[in-house]
Amino acid sequence: MKALTWQGNYKVRVENVPDPILLNPDDAIIQVTSTAICGSDLHLYDGFIPSMMAGDILGHEFMGEVVEVGPQVKKLKVGDRVVVPFPIACGKCWFCQTGLYSACDNSNPKAALAEAMYGHATAGIFGYSHLMGGYAGGQAEYVRVPYADVGPLIIEDGLSDEQVLFLSDILPTGYMAAEQGGVKPGMVVAVWGCGPVGQFAIQCARLMGAEKIIAIDRVRERLEMARTYGKAQIINFDEDKDVVEALKEMTAGRGPDVCIDAVGMEAHVAGIEGVVDRAKQAVKIETDRPAVLRQAIQACRKGGTVSLAGVYGGFLDTVPFGAAVNKGLTFRMGQTHVHRYMRPLLEHIQSGAIDPSFIVTHRLSLDDAPHAYEIFKDKEDECVKVVLKP
Ligand code: NAD
Ligand code: ZN
Repeated sequence: MKALTWQGNYKVRVENVPDPILLNPDDAIIQVTSTAICGSDLHLYDGFIPSMMAGDILGHEFMGEVVEVGPQVKKLKVGDRVVVPFPIACGKCWFCQTGLYSACDNSNPKAALAEAMYGHATAGIFGYSHLMGGYAGGQAEYVRVPYADVGPLIIEDGLSDEQVLFLSDILPTGYMAAEQGGVKPGMVVAVWGCGPVGQFAIQCARLMGAEKIIAIDRVRERLEMARTYGKAQIINFDEDKDVVEALKEMTAGRGPDVCIDAVGMEAHVAGIEGVVDRAKQAVKIETDRPAVLRQAIQACRKGGTVSLAGVYGGFLDTVPFGAAVNKGLTFRMGQTHVHRYMRPLLEHIQSGAIDPSFIVTHRLSLDDAPHAYEIFKDKEDECVKVVLKP
C-alpha cells in the first residue's frame, strides 16, 4: 500500500510499504477514505518530538471503512464506516474506566521509554513517535486499529467525511480545551492560536455560552476565520505587540476568565524573547518554546484558568510560575480523551449546532502529502486544514 513516511526533519515521502495485518484478535483493518494533517504532525515534521525513526508512517486523524476484523471483535463489522480516535485505549484499565483514555495503561508497548521521560507511560497514539508506542499512522491507504471495539465510532450515512473526520481529534480537542477551562455563560475567553484547534476551541467556547471571545494569531485568514465563524474579537500579535496589555484593555483591566493555549511548543514570538527561546531550543537547553504559556499566565485574571490544548513535549524554561501561584491560577491540560467526546459531539453535528467542515481549505491526494505538509507548515496559499484522500 501507499503511505506517508517520516524520513527526517522536514522530510516526508510517500512510499510503498507492506499492507498492515491483524496482530491481535481484537484488531481491525481500516481502509482510509479521508485523513488530515494536524498541527501535532508539524512537531514531528520539525523534529521536536524525540524517538522518530526513518520510515515511520505518520497520521492520527483518519476515518474509513472496516475491511477486516479479528475474531474477538464484536461491535464492528466489515463494511462499517468509522472515525477513529487518535489515542489508542484498551477500554478496560483504571484510566479508561475513569474516562482518561489518553492515559490508558495498556496501549503503549514502549512504556519503558515513556516512563523514563514522563514518569509514567501514557496511551499509544497512531503515527506519533516511538515514545507514544511506535504505531503506524493513518496517512496511508490502510491502517491497523487495535482495541477495535473501544475506539472507532460508527457513522451512519447522511454526513460527509469532512463533517465527521475531525471527531478523530481536533473537534474533541477544542471542546476539551473549553470544558477544562470551565467556560460558562458570561465569561471572557482568550484563545491563542487560530489554527484548526483554536478555531474549534472558539466554536466550543461559544457553545458553552462565553460572552466574549478574543482570538490571537498573526495569520490574517485565520484571524478572519475566527471573526467570521466564531464571532471573536481579534488581536494580531505582529501588529499589536503587547498581547497582555491588549487583553487588559479589552477586559477593563481584569484579564480573561479562561486563557486557552492552542499553540503549544512552537510558538512564534518577536524580539529578544523569541531569539532566546530559539537559541535555547537549538542547543537543547529547553525543548519547547513556551511564549504563549508565559503570556497566558500573565494575562489571565486572578483565580482564572489556563487551559492547554497545545502540545508541549519536554522541558520549558522561564515560565512565570510565581505569577501563577500568587494569582491563584488553575491549570488544566492533556492529550485529549477523544473517546469521551466523540458521541456527544457527533450529536451536535447531527443537530446542526456545529459543522466542522468550515475549516477545510485544501483537499489533496495522498501523493500530494509532502507538498501539503509544506504549505500547512508555512501557512502558504491560505492553508488552514488539509484533508488527504488516499
Ligand atoms: P497550527 O500549527 O495550524 O496552528 C497554530 C497556530 O498558532 C498558527 O496559526 C500560528 O500562527 C499560531 N501562533 C504561533 N505563535 C503564536 C503566538 N505567539 N500567539 C498566538 N498564536 C500563535 O496547529 P493546530 O492544528 O491548530 O494545533 C495547535 C496545537 O494543538 C499544536 O500544538 C498541536 O500539537 C496541539 N494539539 C493538541 C491536541 C491534544 O490532544 N491536546 C490535539 C491536537 C492538536
Ligand atoms: Zn491531531
